[in-house]
Amino acid sequence: MSRWARLLITVVASLVLSVAFHNFSFASIATIPTPTTTLTQTASPTVSVSSQPPSTPTQKAAPSPLPYDARLIDIRTVNNKIALDIRYATTNNFFKRKLYPVGRCVLRGAAAKILSQVQDDLAKRGLGLKVYDCYRPLSVQKQMWEIMPDPNYVADPAKGSRHNRGAAVDVTLVDRNGKELEMPSGFDDFTERAYRDYTGASSQAKKNRQLLEDAMKKYGFIPLATEWWHFDAPGWEKFTILDVPFGAIP
Ligand SMILES: [Zn+2]
Repeated sequence: MSRWARLLITVVASLVLSVAFHNFSFASIATIPTPTTTLTQTASPTVSVSSQPPSTPTQKAAPSPLPYDARLIDIRTVNNKIALDIRYATTNNFFKRKLYPVGRCVLRGAAAKILSQVQDDLAKRGLGLKVYDCYRPLSVQKQMWEIMPDPNYVADPAKGSRHNRGAAVDVTLVDRNGKELEMPSGFDDFTERAYRDYTGASSQAKKNRQLLEDAMKKYGFIPLATEWWHFDAPGWEKFTILDVPFGAIP
């Protein structure tokens, strides 16, 4: 084979590979069917810009190709015994404003699974969980920041909250009749009464606070020192900050 022939073969082969590679890339992008495709598990704290609501109803119906643990899951589909009092879907909250269109507790599948296990465990003792907040879209975090731009009260949306990752839950205990157990403070009380080491509460409230903490820690949840009701899911940092609206979550 002449030098020219070899050169020609090399050039043609390069072109074929190049085209194939590009086609493959475009095909990969084109097959992304839902916004949940972008719920990737990475260590990056950056906002996934493409996690937008689906543009057509057919896209909305497409099943998520993500592994279950990374998917946004409505807790009701995992354990319907967990009571809901999603405060940001009402005006009964720190901001005195309804910030969510619906009262849903949505979490990454990994967090939903272990929260369900905590509930089952507590049920054996005649107790249960009541959740105040779960996944919170970043756009709501921004609204909160506009109302209260103080990091002592609200996580700066530039950094995001662990709730924005679908990997944190605000929760309390209820008895078998659904009545809340006494705790050292109400939800979103940003005083020292919310601290886990606050000693001024009644002995019953302190006992209940500890009971909740022990029940959650048993399944891997990580307590927050300044809010007795807040727990992060183990591995929360693997999940990106999201701005998927509640309406786009199955
Ligand atoms: Zn919280």
